[in-house]
Amino acid sequence: RVFLENVYRAFSTPRGQREVLRNVRLEISAGEIIAIVGPSGCGKSTLLRILAGIDRPSRGFARVNGTAVTDTDARTAIAFQEPRLLPWRTLAQNVALGLPRGARHAETRVRTLLELVGLAHAADQKPREVSGGMAGRASLARALARNPDVLLLDEPFGALDALTRLRMQDLLLDIHAAQPTTVVLVTHDVEEALFLADRVVLLHALEPETSIDSIARTISVPGARPRDRADEAF
Ligand code: ATP
Ligand code: MG
Repeated sequence: RVFLENVYRAFSTPRGQREVLRNVRLEISAGEIIAIVGPSGCGKSTLLRILAGIDRPSRGFARVNGTAVTDTDARTAIAFQEPRLLPWRTLAQNVALGLPRGARHAETRVRTLLELVGLAHAADQKPREVSGGMAGRASLARALARNPDVLLLDEPFGALDALTRLRMQDLLLDIHAAQPTTVVLVTHDVEEALFLADRVVLLHALEPETSIDSIARTISVPGARPRDRADEAF
């Protein structure tokens, strides 16, 4: 069970303290898939980093099964927004980095994980030699290598084409069906959230400049006539 208790996170900036998370309270049952959606900059990645134990709340607690999370235990594993693979290591070596220290049968386990995400044929390739989708799957396999109680996914399919994205969504559901870990998925895609998650959590932006309204105003460029171009597409 994951429990966020009145979590606050503020960052020091040249213009003073900037509050990103305010009084976030969230309880997630074991085996649940939760999607977190919200506008860019509202603190989704910050929330996941806190759950991964690589960032700490300014106030409040993040607990997994009753104890505070730290990045050294293997109860949570995170796959980042960018795959963050080591470029000079092969995909197999990158996945092996996710294994808990002293893992037994490491080679067999890496092979099983690569097969699970459909990368058995690319085990010896370097990240720059494979597509973005493949790098994303390797990153997912590395997170799974920890055998975590809680899998944290930050926009894992964000950079993929529509078809690969659908395949990855199915893959995630297959993995979850085979071994029902708790999954916390951050996504911009509301449809994806509704398709994958048992529950969708909406995180609001605290600062007015990151509100949905202001984003909408930023992307309507005068003279670009996006409406006409959209019509052409049909
Ligand atoms: P996106 O959807 O674009 O990925 P997000 O919801 O994941 O956005 P975060 O990355 O959590 O947003 O960042 C939230 C806010 O906190 C941003 O304004 C960011 O600039 C700020 N922030 C995050 N990490 C730090 C840091 N280490 N120091 C200062 N500010 C930070
Ligand atoms: Mg983010």
